[in-house]
Amino acid sequence: MAYRTSNTNLVVQIVHLRLNEQPMQHCHKLRLEAGRCWTDMLHAHIASRDGAWLSEGELKTHFKGVYALHSQTVQALAEKLIANVDAAHGLRKSDPDARYPHHDKQYMTVVWKALGIHHNGCTISLSNGRGNEPLTLTLPVRYCDSDISKVELTWRADHYELCLTIDTGESNPPLDRKVKAAGVDLGQINIAACVTDEGVGINITGRYLRSIKQLRNKRHAAFTARIAKCTDGSKHKAKLLKSKAKASAKFYRQSRDILHKAAKMLVGFAVGEQVAHLAVGDVKDIQDGVALGHKSNQKISQWAHGQYVKYVSEKARRHGISVDYIAEDYSTRTCSVCKMVKNHAPKGRVYTCSGCGAILSRDGNGGANICSRYLVGEYGHVQVASIKYLRPVAVVPRKKATLPVLQPDAPAFRRWVLHSMLRLA
Ligand SMILES: [Zn+2]
Repeated sequence: MAYRTSNTNLVVQIVHLRLNEQPMQHCHKLRLEAGRCWTDMLHAHIASRDGAWLSEGELKTHFKGVYALHSQTVQALAEKLIANVDAAHGLRKSDPDARYPHHDKQYMTVVWKALGIHHNGCTISLSNGRGNEPLTLTLPVRYCDSDISKVELTWRADHYELCLTIDTGESNPPLDRKVKAAGVDLGQINIAACVTDEGVGINITGRYLRSIKQLRNKRHAAFTARIAKCTDGSKHKAKLLKSKAKASAKFYRQSRDILHKAAKMLVGFAVGEQVAHLAVGDVKDIQDGVALGHKSNQKISQWAHGQYVKYVSEKARRHGISVDYIAEDYSTRTCSVCKMVKNHAPKGRVYTCSGCGAILSRDGNGGANICSRYLVGEYGHVQVASIKYLRPVAVVPRKKATLPVLQPDAPAFRRWVLHSMLRLA
């Protein structure tokens, strides 16, 4: 089966499904069936690991027509399994403990490709193979005329989501590349700082994202404490578990939204500055072998840098901008002006160099160093000339209570004082 290749832009849109009992059951059955198919494929693959490992083609032929799923759905599962095996194979080169896929899955995401998708106005019919009822859903009006090339059905804590891959039919004109590269420093307080080789920088703040995470952890802890007091199998416990899942799904959606907006901001900046390459400081190994205490560990484990870089890469690719990871050790400690290395990470958001006296933005300094390392192989060849601070989400300032500006003896002021006293009483 050859998949269509296109030079036009593909975008993924997520649809929150609100379903009645019957379609809900249907979705549930399909995800169970996909889980069964995955587990069977996995077991066949595990059995073959003694001799010649099963290939993607062999898996596809062997499991064809066995499940109540569209043939391309089964093929997509085989592709996913082999992709996971390949990824584990790559990881094992540096980490011999990395394991090949071995977990049974009760549920799996169901994927439909072009042949299984029938799109008629706002109704989408997803085929599940001959003799099986197709899954019919109604799409929001904005997707009625879209060219949908792939559909994925996933479960998100308390509802189903449909991920639609849509071919926009648009292609981007080749950009005139003035600037070669920009360095991206990922952070927890600031989502990303990006500095081009000409010294133009932006800093995308993540304080709002952090406040959302803190609230999430607080709510989670409160739910966990209440759930711990419940008797197993009680109605109250089930209710609390559902509320917890619902809250966590909401927090996930909020943080995903912020990360998407922050990624759009970064790519928008790169396009505006005509950047051809984005070099991202690699923070993947930051947690390895370090015990930082449970608070820092929680912060780091909830730092969704991988998800953010994924969004950035997807958006950058649409503009022909490449994204690479490069090593970033000591990038925050090194002065981008005189290359002096501090003994410790700078405290706060300002980098003050004791060698040359430079006062720099901590994240801008890191971004400039990463850009320099990407271009020249060492720090200190790119300096920040200007830096702009951006927020991924506009925070609407709360209205301040307005006091009447009046002379104390004015009747309106007396009325206001009387009123406030009555309210307090
Ligand atoms: Zn310095």
